[in-house]
Amino acid sequence: MSKASRVKAKEKADLLIVNADELITLDGGSQKPRAGKQMQELGIIRDGGIAVKDGKIVAVGKSAEVRHNIRAENVVSADGKTILPGFVDAHTHLIFAGSREDEFQMRIEGAYYLEILNAGGGILKTVRETRKASIDRLADVGLERLDAMLEHGTTTVEAKSGYGLITRDELKILEVMKRLNQLHSVDVVPTFMGAHAVPPEFKGNTQGYVDLVTDEMLPKVAEKGLAEFCDVFCEKGVFNLEQSRRILIAGKSFGLKPKVHADELSMLGGAELAADVEAVSADHLLFSCDEGLRAMAKKNVIAVLLPAAAFSLMNNKFADARRIIDLGVPIALGSDFNPSCWIENMQLVIGFACNFMRLTPAEAITATTINAAHAINRAPEVGSLEIGKKADILILDVPNHKNLGYRFGANLVDKVIKNGRIVVDKEEKRGEPMVLRRVE
Ligand code: FE
Repeated sequence: MSKASRVKAKEKADLLIVNADELITLDGGSQKPRAGKQMQELGIIRDGGIAVKDGKIVAVGKSAEVRHNIRAENVVSADGKTILPGFVDAHTHLIFAGSREDEFQMRIEGAYYLEILNAGGGILKTVRETRKASIDRLADVGLERLDAMLEHGTTTVEAKSGYGLITRDELKILEVMKRLNQLHSVDVVPTFMGAHAVPPEFKGNTQGYVDLVTDEMLPKVAEKGLAEFCDVFCEKGVFNLEQSRRILIAGKSFGLKPKVHADELSMLGGAELAADVEAVSADHLLFSCDEGLRAMAKKNVIAVLLPAAAFSLMNNKFADARRIIDLGVPIALGSDFNPSCWIENMQLVIGFACNFMRLTPAEAITATTINAAHAINRAPEVGSLEIGKKADILILDVPNHKNLGYRFGANLVDKVIKNGRIVVDKEEKRGEPMVLRRVE
């Protein structure tokens, strides 16, 4: 036997990242979202390394160990930096036309959300503009927004329809998401939310609109395979509990998993409804009572909290995250990106979550990675850095995770790796243009 044959050949990878001060794996969480004290467990490896091949993670561990087993031409040093999974944004309204900066000023001057909506503003203004916009136009704005999100570290994003409110335009928005999935490296997970508001055509006839959603929209969305989830704005003056329940049950019959905009502006019982219909998540939860939260815990419904949305409501009122954790409900975070809460930056969402809701940086990281992946049924693929998962990886220019939430407002991203490719690189910014979109 020759000497060389006794030495095991090193496996070859496409990319090797080594010497990270902290490598946050969040390993072992793919089966179940983390709740209670488990939300603090990040699975940190100091002096960590990670290797990537064919878009997947092939090794994770101490730098020396990974280097010992793997060779690669492209080796990146993360010395002084923190590696973590790409952010998963569990709740956005990504696709709409126009903007609402005028209304922002009205809100500063004291106008209330439902007042603006009842006066034909708010969602309804965006609906008018979105109906007029072409699929190409909406895809263009979608690409710009995904670029901004990716630059700030978001690699997977949930996106809801709900600015069409007639069958043709709800389908159009979902078609845009399908196109974005082909054009952009960020993964878009589509949710049908025809029940976002009652359109002007059905003013005073909410029941008639609910019928349209269940009897016409849902069958078409399902037939075309355009959505995975069905969401409803369960709120006083919008869709009541019974109407919301009907829509979610109908969605389930078409294979769409339920999500609920619950107890955002008042305590209506949206949390209980989410538990009743076995929703994947209940979102917002500013006014939920213990009873509703306990029901959620029992049925494994994830609380998707949206502190940026609460911030933009200007009421100094946030979901009671500490109570939600104490009651055993797993928390995920989302941006709630929408025309009245224009935020593409999950690092800032973490900043809000820590500063206003008193999540610790570790809890907020869990909530924006593995738990957010659970909230959109992507936990087997993303949300943690484990062998076999998608190589969606962030390198942040901070020496440890405790800087997240503490340092907010500036972009801490050094590099974003999506499907194993470096798509954002601060070091290259001065040279070649960054490639955010798919080249295939
Ligand atoms: Fe929302």
